[in-house]
Amino acid sequence: MKVTLLGTGGSAGVPMIGGADGSGNWGECDPAEPRNRRTRSSIVIENTANRRLLVDTSPDMRNQLLDCRIPGVDAVLFTHAHADHITGIDDVRILNRIANRPLPAFATAETLAEIVKRFGYAFRPWEPPHFYRPVLEARTVLPGDLFGAAGCAVRVFAQSHGKVETLGLRFGPFAYSTDVVELNDDAFAALSGVDTWVVGCFLRHGPHWTHADLDKVLGWTRRLKPRRTVLTHMGTEMDWAWMQANLPPGVEAGYDGMVLEIG
Ligand SMILES: [Zn+2]
Ligand SMILES: [Zn+2]
Repeated sequence: MKVTLLGTGGSAGVPMIGGADGSGNWGECDPAEPRNRRTRSSIVIENTANRRLLVDTSPDMRNQLLDCRIPGVDAVLFTHAHADHITGIDDVRILNRIANRPLPAFATAETLAEIVKRFGYAFRPWEPPHFYRPVLEARTVLPGDLFGAAGCAVRVFAQSHGKVETLGLRFGPFAYSTDVVELNDDAFAALSGVDTWVVGCFLRHGPHWTHADLDKVLGWTRRLKPRRTVLTHMGTEMDWAWMQANLPPGVEAGYDGMVLEIG
C-alpha cells in the first residue's frame, strides 16, 4: 500500500493570502523552504493492484493530482464537510471520465447531507455517456464500520473536531486522522497498534478549539507509540526547519507530495 500526501496545510494553506507585498502571509514559516508551502489537506491511498481511494476533494485537488501524478481514482471518502475538504468536488467529473463511471463517495450521513445541500448536482444519477458534472454515488458509513473502498479495507472512527465530528481512517498498519482536537476511547482503540500515523497538527502555540496543537499530538503519540508519526494540516506556525530540529524521534512533518510506503 502506498499513501501520497496531496496536501498538508490548514484550511487557508501556507502561505495564506496576504503579506505586505501580496506574496503571502507565511507567519513563522520560512518562505525559502519549499516544504513550508502547503496546499489543503488530502491524501490518496493506493493498494497493490493500483486502485486508489481519494480522501477529500480539497480546493487544490486539480493541482495536487497533477503535481503528484495521480492518473485517476476509484472512489472518494470525505472525512467531513468543511470547505477545505470538499470544494474541489467539481473536478471529480474528470476523474469520472477517466473511470468512465460514477464514483462511490463514502461519508457519514451528516457529512453527506451537508455536501448534498451544497453540491446536490454531483449526486444526481448519471446520464450516459457524458460527464459534464461530477457524478458521485453516496455510500453512508457509520463510525466503527469496516468496509472496502477502492480495494482497500478501511475502518472508520469518530474524532472530535470542535462543533463537528470527523472520520478517522484505519487501513491495517496505517491511519489518517485529520481535523481532530480530541480522541475518545473508541478512537484510541481504533488506532491501537498503528505503525504509521498521519495526524493533523495545526499549530505550536495552542490550544485551539477545533485542532490539536503540537503538545496534544505528542501526548497522543506517547500513548499510542506509532513507529512513525507524520504531521499534516499544518498552519503558519509550523516551520519545517523548527520541526526538523525539535520534533522527538519517530515524529516528523509531512509535506505536499510526500509518499509513504506502508507494509
Ligand atoms: Zn481542514
Ligand atoms: Zn475541518
